[in-house]
Amino acid sequence: MKILLIYHDPTVLAAFEEFASKFNHEFSAQSDIADARSTLKNYNGNLIVIETGPGLSCWQNEIEEQRNRVPRPSFVFLGNMCTDEIAQASELGGDAYISKPLHDKLLAMNLSSLLRMVQLENDLNTALEESERVQNELKTSLEGQKEAIAEKELTYRELLLAYSRLQNLNQQKNNFLATATHELRTPVTVMKGYHRILLDERLGKLLPEQKEVLQESEQSCTRLIKIVNSLLDLSRIEAGKLELVYQSYDVTTNLKMIVTQQKDASTRKRLSLILRLEKGLPQVKCDRDKVNQVLTNLLENSIKYTPSGGKIYISARPYLWEKRDSSIAKRLQVQEERRRRTGESSNHRCNAVMVQVSDTGIGIPPENQQEIFEEFSQVSSNQMDRTGLGLGLAISRRIINAHGGKIWVDSQMNSGSRFTFLLPLSPS
Ligand code: ADP
Repeated sequence: MKILLIYHDPTVLAAFEEFASKFNHEFSAQSDIADARSTLKNYNGNLIVIETGPGLSCWQNEIEEQRNRVPRPSFVFLGNMCTDEIAQASELGGDAYISKPLHDKLLAMNLSSLLRMVQLENDLNTALEESERVQNELKTSLEGQKEAIAEKELTYRELLLAYSRLQNLNQQKNNFLATATHELRTPVTVMKGYHRILLDERLGKLLPEQKEVLQESEQSCTRLIKIVNSLLDLSRIEAGKLELVYQSYDVTTNLKMIVTQQKDASTRKRLSLILRLEKGLPQVKCDRDKVNQVLTNLLENSIKYTPSGGKIYISARPYLWEKRDSSIAKRLQVQEERRRRTGESSNHRCNAVMVQVSDTGIGIPPENQQEIFEEFSQVSSNQMDRTGLGLGLAISRRIINAHGGKIWVDSQMNSGSRFTFLLPLSPS
């Protein structure tokens, strides 16, 4: 602590010097009034002791200045227990009055307790300042948070508005799609019909060149009808109008039929179509046309994305589908092992069929394997044939999901792709 003594009696100086050195306080003293005044002007100690005498009030200005300092020092007056002096000391705002003659132990006690008080006051001031700082920080952060909340509310409202606008636009797009495709389908189907009549030479013989041109034109009509049908399917699905007509479905017969339908296309590309069907495949209850649409799409894609000379495998097997088990490959392995061990027939206890279409084609990059099931999604890097719209797999997934099934792809670039779907034997 830092102590200043203003004195005129040398015995007082001696007593304070002893106290200060004993308790390791920083001590200075002034006996000259003018020097004392100038020291007091810039003094920033903790305790100021003034020995009283005539004209104690002459220190009033200095004392007041010191009182306004932060942290404020304590004032002690020393005197001869004279009533006037005590009154003056109190008026000047003294914190203590010590009477002479000084007793060293009493002086030490009084000064120590005063200094402790000063210390406590300083600590309290620091704590108050800190709490004020924290309060200000809290206030600023609260205001910041209020602003952020207001901004978020605004963004949320804007988002809601944008969302509702998007919904309207989507609705308009769906309506347009449904009407436009419907209007397109009738004339194109009529055109295709007339092509057939001409090609069958029901209206007269055709030259070979005329036949060739008409055949190409008929193929374009077929492609156009396919695209129009996909768009119609999509608009029906978007409008929540995907209706399934459940009937009994024989997997073997239908797979054979679809493979036969694709025979020409695969032969043209010199691809081998290999059908692997397990014996005793169970009957499935499903929408026959829609499941065949999925199979046709998968097979057409394999033909499209497999270079000449490649192989395409189509297989079907009974499957015990326990939906909580996420690892289908592992479950299949366990089922196979159990079957081998027990000689259990393959459709024993099965509740689904697993159909796979695999090819030795160009493959699909891992980052695209999920998104190809989204509408209008095509893998830009592997477009060997740009005739599609990127809708086939999206529609296939909706159809399989609507049956309570599941469809996914495993693929490796430049090695091939394997599309698998699970179809429950009956709707749940
Ligand atoms: P698209 O009419 O374009 O074939 P799909 O929805 O059927 O539309 O397929 C989406 C995309 O997935 C295709 O454009 C193609 O990039 C990729 N794809 C589908 N099947 C295969 C496959 N067997 N091999 C490689 N890529 C495939």
